[in-house]
Amino acid sequence: MDEVKQDKQKTTQELENKGEIIYGGIEAGGTKFVCVIGTGPSDLKAKTSFPTTIPAETLNRTIEFFKKHSYKLNAIGIASFGPIDLNTSSLTFGYITSTPKPGWKNTDIFGTIRNTLNVPVAFDTDVNGAALGEHRFGNAKDMDNFIYLNIGTGIGGGGIINGKLMHGLLHPEMGHIRIPHNQKKDPFPGLCPYHKDCFEGLASGPAISRRWEKSAEKLPDKHPAWDLEAHYIALALVNYICILSPERIILGGGVMERSVMLSLIRDEVQKLLNNYINKPEITKNIDDYIVTPKLGKYAGVMGAIVLAEERTNFEAKKD
Ligand code: ZN
Repeated sequence: MDEVKQDKQKTTQELENKGEIIYGGIEAGGTKFVCVIGTGPSDLKAKTSFPTTIPAETLNRTIEFFKKHSYKLNAIGIASFGPIDLNTSSLTFGYITSTPKPGWKNTDIFGTIRNTLNVPVAFDTDVNGAALGEHRFGNAKDMDNFIYLNIGTGIGGGGIINGKLMHGLLHPEMGHIRIPHNQKKDPFPGLCPYHKDCFEGLASGPAISRRWEKSAEKLPDKHPAWDLEAHYIALALVNYICILSPERIILGGGVMERSVMLSLIRDEVQKLLNNYINKPEITKNIDDYIVTPKLGKYAGVMGAIVLAEERTNFEAKKD
């Protein structure tokens, strides 16, 4: 980190401590929105959450929350479900683009928030947000290479590689990779509207419910659904491990609230890798290697706060 940046960050931190800098954070999830005002988990002035309905209604509730609490915000960070357009030179920058979620295709979430509330806004994926939250406040503190995977209504992944959030042509779409699908053992065709039996199509919460014709929450711990689910998740993790070589994997989302899952996944990852990656983190200490988020459901929105802080530092540099 160069000296100028270090100075700026120190100044920002001091101003945060004095209460002179304050941020807004929005986790725009496919199931619910979480909004907060503050500078971190130990300094939250206000928070709310509500279901994600149609864009106009959901964004209006978001705007009302920030207007009701009349803090002068330095910036707002948005960690959004996607796919989203992160290319700043694109005409649709800040839009939710080809989402299968009804009504949300081509929604200008960034522009709506920025133009209505008139503050600088930072924008990234919900899972990159969660990764950023865990990096600053949670289970990946000071870690330069790790991934965060959310397994719930959908499946998405993000993370930090070489100290930076993963971006590129678009952003990672870790839920839509192809994994081996033995159709004799599991004839369920998958439910991704784009690919049928991609990872999300086979292993999201709704896929479990549809396959077993029973709500996933109602399936007992001993049900074969969980072994199959752990198998699919482990296949995906093995791909990420071989491609990205993360130092830790954080697994969040509704499916991971089922407590038997974590040990089933750890065992299956070791079995599939078969000692090929001969590192004690995987062969001996996998309980520290595959973990759940320390911030729990707040990982995403805390990451949104960090995005807002980065945006504030960026604005300060321009002055
Ligand atoms: Zn897919």
